[in-house]
Amino acid sequence: MPLILFAAPSLWPEYRDALPAALAEAGVDDATLVTEADPAKVDYIVYAPASPLRDFTPYTRTKAVLNLWAGVERIVGNATLTQPLARMVDPGLTEGMVEWVVGHTLRHHLGMDRHIVNPGRVWDPTCPPLARERPVTMLGMGALGAACANALRALHFPVTGWSRTEKPGQLHGEHGLRKALSSAQILIALLPKTPETENILNADRLALLPKGAVILNPGRGPLIDDSALLAALNRGHIGHATLDVFRVEPLPQDHPYWSHPRVTVTPHIAADTRAFTASRVIAENIRRGETGEPFLHLVDRVRGY
Ligand code: NAP
Repeated sequence: MPLILFAAPSLWPEYRDALPAALAEAGVDDATLVTEADPAKVDYIVYAPASPLRDFTPYTRTKAVLNLWAGVERIVGNATLTQPLARMVDPGLTEGMVEWVVGHTLRHHLGMDRHIVNPGRVWDPTCPPLARERPVTMLGMGALGAACANALRALHFPVTGWSRTEKPGQLHGEHGLRKALSSAQILIALLPKTPETENILNADRLALLPKGAVILNPGRGPLIDDSALLAALNRGHIGHATLDVFRVEPLPQDHPYWSHPRVTVTPHIAADTRAFTASRVIAENIRRGETGEPFLHLVDRVRGY
């Protein structure tokens, strides 16, 4: 049973060993991982959206496309893709995101920058508030957002969650969004990129945040109207923005975010897909496909995530 990896060549050495091992662990013993094959003979496609494959039409017997990334915006609208599409929901990815979000939240909450860069040797004994006094809002309470919210709540941050559908203890809808923004001293965007979420943080919504609020965006660049964010930073309404994702990546050298004193750029590293954990997720889905069980983490093509 051939499964083909479509990803950057640098990923091959990682998956060449990890995926067959995970398949054996899952009890799938007749699978062969390849990087080239007759499309008409391929059973599963393991797919990184950065790969050049765009036409899925020749993959007539492919049972599923297994995305290596959590985000599917580059593939979800592909009209040639008629096979089921599963996205990556993986403990390693989640752990990475939780670490990035907690780390950057604590940096801003504790005001660490004042002490790390202190050329004037200023002895300022001002204590930060406790986490319980620092309201955080999480936009997107899916696999990643919910895990980050739980980790922050364990540190006693009061976290307001906002998502698309109504759920107990969370906000939703435009009214809920306005409420969630108006209390957020730290705002974290962990939404997928869809037509509904593009520019969700526009000038109007940014203005709802309390003065001095900090924004963390490990979701997707287009969630934020960049001009509106820069204007809000420049007039001091937004205190800082820590951004991991951008409309254009790598972020162009002349982009104002690089030089802005109140912007931190991280190079799309919040959560990487690690072969040693992701391979188990892929193997489990292949096992399911082979035993007739429903695939996990299927993407809703209409919803777009
Ligand atoms: P997920 O499980 O699909 O969760 C998405 C969340 O967003 C859900 O809570 C969903 O609401 C909410 N949502 C979607 N559309 C919405 C809308 N129009 N209005 C309000 N809420 C909406 O996704 P995930 O696994 O948590 O991943 C989230 C995103 O993180 C990915 O799509 C990707 O863009 C990004 N990501 C970034 C990195 C990185 O390294 N920077 C790594 C991995 C992922 P419902 O709960 O109501 O469905």
